[in-house]
Amino acid sequence: MPQDKKKDHNLKAVPRLVSVSSPANESAEMDACHICFGTGMEIVPGKGARRCICRKRDTHVDQIAKAQIPKRYEKCHFNTYKTGDNVSQKIALRTAQDFTNQFPAVDSGLLLSGTVGVGKTHLAVSILKGLTERGFACLFYEFGTLLKEIQDSYNPRTFSSELGVLSPVLNADVLVLDELGASKPTDWVRDTLAHIINSRYNEKRFTIFTSNYLDERASDRDETLEDRIGVRARSRIYEMCQTVVIAGEDYRRKIHQQSGFGRLGNQK
Ligand code: ADP
Repeated sequence: MPQDKKKDHNLKAVPRLVSVSSPANESAEMDACHICFGTGMEIVPGKGARRCICRKRDTHVDQIAKAQIPKRYEKCHFNTYKTGDNVSQKIALRTAQDFTNQFPAVDSGLLLSGTVGVGKTHLAVSILKGLTERGFACLFYEFGTLLKEIQDSYNPRTFSSELGVLSPVLNADVLVLDELGASKPTDWVRDTLAHIINSRYNEKRFTIFTSNYLDERASDRDETLEDRIGVRARSRIYEMCQTVVIAGEDYRRKIHQQSGFGRLGNQK
């Protein structure tokens, strides 16, 4: 191919960015790729779907750093999640993998609930890693940490602003809010949660919640997720998310006991 033609050909392969008005903010303009229209996937007639060239510009390393996944979860992947014979863990793993593979063509987010240590965060992080590999903008926040950052941003001596903290939370393609219900349920906490979930719901952005609180009480002393976050927020999350209940042992405790420390600890 002559050099000039080659250059032309290459130019055509680079996706143009077109401006699309956001319904939420008429003045704000988003750049959307004219090939995939922001979905990240290009449909190739007769062949199927593949990752759009526009997403390849954002390196995976960039996206994973922006997702703010805590270091202690850096080894979490679908292939390191062990289910054994546990049916609820098998279903949870399959649901999380399906969400990742089918995104953005999914109907709802996920609420991963279950007792401590069953691997809810492990699965949520695995989803984020899978999606960042495909170029989607993802963000991880432990809910209590997010609340603290918002509170700190009220301090005029700090440089962040409430909007600065909230903007990525509201705009991420997929947000993980970890440990929902763990924070003391004050009016401010409930209002802040309502603002986040309503904004994301209105913009059709998907959210993955994890929570140690269930919908059913095992005893009168137990608090439900609704007790912790309020009836309105729980109801909205029903609309936004598929609930996946994971039952099982605390994995950390199991490993601790298998390693022999548990047995030694019992030899008093
Ligand atoms: P949860 O969010 O349900 O409290 P985590 O996801 O934080 O539990 O899991 C605690 C630790 O145990 C993490 O290091 C996680 O990788 C590990 N873990 C939990 N469940 C599993 C599992 N089924 N297979 C492998 N590792 C697991």
